[in-house]
Amino acid sequence: MLRLAGEEFPESLACITCSHVLEGHPIGLVARDEDGDWQFLCGTFAHQVSDGRLISISSAIELEPRLSSLKAVPLGASVTLEPRK
Ligand SMILES: [Zn+2]
Repeated sequence: MLRLAGEEFPESLACITCSHVLEGHPIGLVARDEDGDWQFLCGTFAHQVSDGRLISISSAIELEPRLSSLKAVPLGASVTLEPRK
């Protein structure tokens, strides 16, 4: 299990990301669906359904270690990450 935003999740939990993040674009937007699914998106480009990818929650935190310090994200809410320096 790992902790994210004050809750525990299985490390292999599938989350939604976009092709841009997997191509190296930083994660800029964290969103939580009403059903609890996490989305870790670039927050930069417009997205089509075909841009969606699956990633494990542990991989997302490896890509963006700042996720570890996220405060609680309520269902249906989203958080913007400051661009990395
Ligand atoms: Zn994207």
